Formats: sequence, structure tokens, C-alpha cells
Amino acid sequence: MSYMEPDVYLETAGSLRMIRLQPGDDPVEVAERHRDAHPTDTRFRLTYVTRFSVPEKGKAPVCGATQTYPEDPEELARQGLPVTWAGVTVTCQAPPHQCAPDAVEHSGQVIVNGTVRALTSWGPGWLPTGA
Ligand SMILES: [Zn+2]
Repeated sequence: MSYMEPDVYLETAGSLRMIRLQPGDDPVEVAERHRDAHPTDTRFRLTYVTRFSVPEKGKAPVCGATQTYPEDPEELARQGLPVTWAGVTVTCQAPPHQCAPDAVEHSGQVIVNGTVRALTSWGPGWLPTGA
């Protein structure tokens, strides 16, 4: 099971609207702005939503770290990557692990339009070709 940072919502009592707060938002200021647009909404509560996932039944848990290739064809060429990989996100399918600061331990399939094009590895120790 992997946890994400919690999202914070300002909920209105009664009408049950949920307003997602951004980091740095003052809940009282957001509530006052909301009340200005919805004069009867004067009671609020903060709700912290922590998302998590479990593996599908029968499947082993995976790391799940992702990397997304650049959209820019020139940047892809500079890194020695095919232009068809533009914007493709790869998810690490290895068992759950921490990648050391200078390691290249994440690995996953590059899937373009539903077809596996390559198996790739990445991590903080990875440098693009030509960098
Ligand atoms: Zn990984």
C-alpha cells in the first residue's frame, strides 16, 4: 500500500459543496469568498483526504514511480529517444523499493498507443544521452 500526501477540502455544511484548497490557501478567506457567492453557506469544515491503493487481487504490489518523457521532439532527439515517446509516462513495475540518490533502479515498459516499445530504467542517477 502506498500513501499520497493528503488533499485538504473546505466543505460547506448543509449544501455539501467541497472546495479543494491549494497549499498556502487560508481556509477562512476561501470560506468568506464562497459565502459572498453563496450567502446562506456560513458553516464549514476542513476534510483531509488521504488516497491510497492496494494491488489488484492476485497481483504483487509494484513500486509505481513514474517518469514522463518530454513533449519537445528536439529534446527527445537530444536524449537519443524516438519522437513517438513524446509525453509518454512510464510506471515502475518493480517490487516496492526506494531508489538510492545516485541509482537507476526504476524500470518499466514504454507503451506507445497500446504497444510495448521498450523496457527502460531510470532513477536519480540517470543522465540523458548527450547531457
Ligand atoms: Zn521503482
